[in-house]
Amino acid sequence: MENNKINAATKALARGWKMTAKHCDKCGLPLFKVDDRDVCVFCDMENDGSLRKKESKKESEKPAESRAIEDNVSIIVQNKLKELALRLEKEQETGRIREILEAMNAAIRLLKEM
Ligand SMILES: [Zn+2]
Repeated sequence: MENNKINAATKALARGWKMTAKHCDKCGLPLFKVDDRDVCVFCDMENDGSLRKKESKKESEKPAESRAIEDNVSIIVQNKLKELALRLEKEQETGRIREILEAMNAAIRLLKEM
């Protein structure tokens, strides 16, 4: 098998596509299931413009998805900050106070980066 075919198959696996039991008529690579279609990642990905478009559409959807995750994380971190602030208020021990402050610092830094 040529290297670029192996690359194409590796990329398909990395994308989480499922390998089917069928094989491509043209190059003999196993076909992958993509959007309910059996696709040869080597022949069809090169020639099928619609597949490429679908692929790029998925790419553009990704940021929104990861933003949603970041929103969730941000809420969790903010809640943790509140918890830490309450603990800090009651805490008497210097060592613990420092620990809490460090944790709060890390949380605030994380929120700023989002
Ligand atoms: Zn093929």
